[in-house]
Amino acid sequence: MLKGIATSSGIALGKIYKLEQPVFTVSEAKGVPAEEAARFESALAKTISDIEAIKERASANLAPEELAVFDAHLMMVQDPEYQDQIKAMIDEGSTADYATKTVSDMMVTMFESMDNEYFKERAADIKDVSFRLLCNILGLNIPDLTAIDEEVVIVAEEMTPSDTAQMNKKYATGFVTEIGGKTSHAAIMAVSLGIPAVVGCTGVMSSCKHGDYIILDAKNGDVFINPAEDVIAEYKAKREAFLKEKEELKVLMNKPSVTLDGHQVELVSNIGNPKDMDNVIANGAEGVGLFRSEFLYMDATDDFPSEEVQFEAYKTVLERAEGKRIVVRTLDIGGDKTLPYFKFDPEMNPFLGYRAIRLCLDRPEIFRTQVRALLRASVYGKLAIMFPMIATIDEFVKAKQFVLDNKEELKKEGVAVSDSIEIGMMVEIPASAVLADEFAKYADFFSIGTNDLIQYSMAADRMSEKVSYLYQPLNPAILRLVKMTIDGAHSQGKWCGMCGEMGGDPMAAPILLGLGLDEFSMSSPRILPTRKIITSLNKKDMEELAAKALKCHTEAEVIELVKSVL
Ligand code: PEP
Ligand code: MG
Repeated sequence: MLKGIATSSGIALGKIYKLEQPVFTVSEAKGVPAEEAARFESALAKTISDIEAIKERASANLAPEELAVFDAHLMMVQDPEYQDQIKAMIDEGSTADYATKTVSDMMVTMFESMDNEYFKERAADIKDVSFRLLCNILGLNIPDLTAIDEEVVIVAEEMTPSDTAQMNKKYATGFVTEIGGKTSHAAIMAVSLGIPAVVGCTGVMSSCKHGDYIILDAKNGDVFINPAEDVIAEYKAKREAFLKEKEELKVLMNKPSVTLDGHQVELVSNIGNPKDMDNVIANGAEGVGLFRSEFLYMDATDDFPSEEVQFEAYKTVLERAEGKRIVVRTLDIGGDKTLPYFKFDPEMNPFLGYRAIRLCLDRPEIFRTQVRALLRASVYGKLAIMFPMIATIDEFVKAKQFVLDNKEELKKEGVAVSDSIEIGMMVEIPASAVLADEFAKYADFFSIGTNDLIQYSMAADRMSEKVSYLYQPLNPAILRLVKMTIDGAHSQGKWCGMCGEMGGDPMAAPILLGLGLDEFSMSSPRILPTRKIITSLNKKDMEELAAKALKCHTEAEVIELVKSVL
């Protein structure tokens, strides 16, 4: 058995789809011309049909101009001059792979040396196409997540958020990654899709091959490769029990989230795009506490999403919420979230670098598009806006003023904008937690981003499994920062939510309730299990529990305390 980091709940069993780019070297070698020519021709035919198939699948999601890249690739492999040069080398005795590699490299060098952007880009296309052609000559499989057409469990070195987005959810029943922490965005997306996932599973890539059988238990972080029949039977039974429990929770669907002594809290969802509203509604959430708007930016392939595209997305979400509050977080790009069309200068510590509100305040033309789209959409429901990564009051004041200035501009243009938009901030940098009582004089609300708050407080990279033991939401130091933030908000009559993974952590719920958290925001599949916990507790008792927890010395002591009430 292999051990990784548990992300959520659920069990997946099935065939492995190994996400691994083929690695190979091609060296000079001789072959029989007729045989090599046949290898080349059949690889060429397969390459053409592969590209056509990819284009066909992509056409469901991409605009015609974005599909043009596939036509360029097709033109390139079908270029007679390119093919003739390869065939000439084969006739002289080279192997198909060596001839293809040599001719392709020559063309890449030629295009790269041209002083013209267009031709430089063609060099990248040739690299891309010839890699596919070479893999086909060598009989190597190039993974393509969109092409999966049977139930599989994905095993990968790492899943980027865009890999997770590309995954065909119908067939990808779970995933295991070699690296990544519990709060890496791939893990977070898996939880919100309700897909069982284990991350940071050291050794998994070298322990399995494409097509092997795998079991993963996302609750305990256990992974079995090619297990014995009795283990398979045991986990199939566990999966049945898990699904039954999930079904039973449905009675809590439209019930309020009220404690035994009558204290009501809000249980809301984290989402990444309008489609996620299906899950928000299906899980009985009371609104959205975090719309990670950067996923709209990450879904775009060649440029920032326009004001119109964003307006439609926000409008859809607000309308589907039917009056429930939607908290949209403005663009939080950087760290592990990059964009294909925006070049970040290399930094030693991107998580501490030029990102989120820092970037938006520095690039008003980027920020303005989003702010205008949000303001225009505000009349379609109950919108709240919050800024990520606020470190200073100055940043918050500037960002808020930027929104107000744009509102005035829109009004002058005759565009309707709601007058009841709340403007709040994420508290995810320790400095803003410590100064929360002062921030509360400016912000309408707080949402505690514990993924980053814990990362920055513990100085432990959230992407690194080696230091993942420092992800300690129940460490008394973190609890004290959380308390400061909640108390800070309440001191000015403001509300305080939490949208980091801790907000949906069953072990944290009793303490957060005791500390007075008003809104718990989490992946939609966590809503009903959390409602079950909240409705079975007494707020007064939890206040005592929280007071004790704040005096503990270690996370382990806090965990023991919580276990005594759950
Ligand atoms: C957080 O930091 O807790 C948070 C919710 O934001 P993200 O995970 O997107 O950084
Ligand atoms: Mg964050």
